[in-house]
Amino acid sequence: MADCIFCKIANKELPSTVVYENERIMVFRDIHPAAPTHLLIIPKRHIPTLSHCTGGDASLLGEMMALIPELAKQEGIQVEGLESSAAKGGFRVVVNAGPDGHQDVYHLHIHLMGGPRPWKGAN
Ligand code: 5GP
Ligand code: ZN
Repeated sequence: MADCIFCKIANKELPSTVVYENERIMVFRDIHPAAPTHLLIIPKRHIPTLSHCTGGDASLLGEMMALIPELAKQEGIQVEGLESSAAKGGFRVVVNAGPDGHQDVYHLHIHLMGGPRPWKGAN
């Protein structure tokens, strides 16, 4: 999509801080982080919103979600200590869709936010 900023980021026409990439997916840091770690996980292919996905996108969506535990480990925000009742770490995963979902950029993305509280922009 010609005017889509995340397509331009995926094509490297616009700069971003890339933390993971393969043929189908790119992960980069949000330019206005709402938490100490704030990553955006996008498909390289332009899909406007989660509402536009179908069963045919199941493996792509699954691959994006399945990346999250590894990304969380890389960022040091993984959940630990559940066994010892001293749980720590953790993150939130958010997908905004459409105007009522407060989606600003119409290229599907998963927000991965985590790190020590308090966070700036999210509750
Ligand atoms: P949405 O509101 O659509 O769910 O989230 C869009 C996110 O993209 C926002 O958190 C915003 O800070 C981020 N964002 C918007 N433009 C850019 C950009 O050019 N580069 C990066 N890295 N993030 C962006
Ligand atoms: Zn796009």
